[in-house]
Amino acid sequence: MPIDREQIPALIQAAQTKILDNWKKDYFEKVAKALQVHTKGQLFNKVDTLFPNEHPDSKAHCIATYEPITKASIWKGINNLQRIFAHSSFSYQVGDQLADWLADYEYNGMNLLNYFLQEWIAKAVSEDPNGLFVIYPPDWAAERGMCPVQWVRSDLIKSVTRDAVAFISEHDSEVEYTYESTVVSRKVFEDPSVNALNAITCTEVSYNQRLKVKVVKEVVHLFTRDGFLIYTPAAKKNEFEATIVDFADPLTYIPAFPGGGNIADKADIPLFESFVQPFVPFGNLALIQHRNHRAVDLQFSYPRMSELQMPCDHKGCAGGKVKCQKTNTYPDGFMPCPKCRGNGYTTVQSPYKVYNPRYDPNDQNENKHLNVDPVKFYSPDVGIINYSKDAWKDYLKQAETSIFVLQKVYTATNPESAESKDKDLEDMYAWLLNPSKVFYNNLRFLLQALEDYISRSPSTVSVERPFSFAILTEGEAFLAMDRILQSTAPVFIKGNQVDNFVSKFVSKDSPVIRALAVLKQFDPLLFYSATDVQTFKGANVISADMYKTHVLAYPVMLKLYQQDREFFNQEDSAIIEQLTKEIATYVVPTAADGLRTAVMTAIQQEEGGAAA
Ligand SMILES: [Zn+2]
Repeated sequence: MPIDREQIPALIQAAQTKILDNWKKDYFEKVAKALQVHTKGQLFNKVDTLFPNEHPDSKAHCIATYEPITKASIWKGINNLQRIFAHSSFSYQVGDQLADWLADYEYNGMNLLNYFLQEWIAKAVSEDPNGLFVIYPPDWAAERGMCPVQWVRSDLIKSVTRDAVAFISEHDSEVEYTYESTVVSRKVFEDPSVNALNAITCTEVSYNQRLKVKVVKEVVHLFTRDGFLIYTPAAKKNEFEATIVDFADPLTYIPAFPGGGNIADKADIPLFESFVQPFVPFGNLALIQHRNHRAVDLQFSYPRMSELQMPCDHKGCAGGKVKCQKTNTYPDGFMPCPKCRGNGYTTVQSPYKVYNPRYDPNDQNENKHLNVDPVKFYSPDVGIINYSKDAWKDYLKQAETSIFVLQKVYTATNPESAESKDKDLEDMYAWLLNPSKVFYNNLRFLLQALEDYISRSPSTVSVERPFSFAILTEGEAFLAMDRILQSTAPVFIKGNQVDNFVSKFVSKDSPVIRALAVLKQFDPLLFYSATDVQTFKGANVISADMYKTHVLAYPVMLKLYQQDREFFNQEDSAIIEQLTKEIATYVVPTAADGLRTAVMTAIQQEEGGAAA
């Protein structure tokens, strides 16, 4: 259904007048800037403003030596999110035409779903969670060499109502990009030429460099469910010239949605904070603490020097002033002494850094001047530096923990930290549920818009989000599985632990899941503990072969997988046959224990090597 032509002036009128409240824009900007201090390494302004009583030299030093020390930490968390979503399997259902289109579509070397994940992480999570994603008709976008998925900065949103969304198109508007690299400030000083206070404008290099987008000539895109309008706002009402793009069928939703995050508050629209926002307060404290450290470092890390000073011996110098003619600059007839520059004292240093102890003419033969070192160095107390150099690291660690950058690792040899790692995994799983809900819901909006654009008889798309996340890498997952299998927990608890583990922390298509399915068939004693199995064997309840299978099945399976990465791509029966053959070559019990750790370590090292 085309846009009702008679409604167009009213639509534009509404978009131009019912604009987004200023407080919302301020809020969006505040959220985005706070985030970008860490994600883009921009100068944290409290580093400058929080220390009003500091010596100006110290402050200047701290700002000049500012480095974005939190950037690497926040990106660890963001990259985790990207990796986990990229590797967690999910499913979606769309019409055949859209399925074909998606199979063929490529943008920047990525398929559309991967491109959207990357954009969502880069924009909604890392930059500006209140910005919008807009979905253009694919053929219209293709004609202009654009991706149908476009992102709109929150400060370019004009109006959001139930029937329409309008924003300034960065693509179509005349836009000036500048890199802000200087700050302009006003300084007040005492001006002798006018005998009063005066002000001067100074331009200084800013360490807070950020991209500035200035819209010179605005072109607005206004989306409804029936089509969209492109217009340039005019001075007079009803003088808009609009290009109209009608959709073939009305869409299910207006094809624009916020990237989103945690809902911080809700007005007529939700106000979002990024999913990595919990990093920000601890990250800020780390920056402040680190900046304190810079000041302490400046104050205490350098040896102090004291130097003997003598009253200035320049002719006519009295307390640093010498007589001169009365002028505008020196209305009282005194000017600073050219030798001591107004100090009244000079150091007893020759131009060649030779210190000359001076004889005091009033000295009563006591030679007091010889008792004083002309120059002396003092070494500072290092205790305060030791404290301040570590304090910021603690905050940074808390910042990382707040976005589930896991500090502990599973290893083949050190199981102590395993329990707390399990707890961390559970926490991370719970955290991932929210970003996953928002991301896959956005994906559903995106796919529905494309379905409505592309299919001749659009269906309702569905996206089933992953209920298991690829939190663990493959090597970690095999190690963790081994640990659960080897524990002394009762059978039914172990069964639950394994199910919980595979249903949360590994991707649905992980080889760990295949390994488990085959093991369940191959080793009927899989969930029994070593003690149980020993007892069974002693009481002759199980055969020597069953015992051997139980001890060797898992490590041998891993060994075969390590030798051949295609191992799990075979039928169950083929896998079981190979396992049986390989196990027959071992003499129990000699080989069993060593094999387990050796294979685990090999897999971990391989993974470490592949990642490097
Ligand atoms: Zn002097």
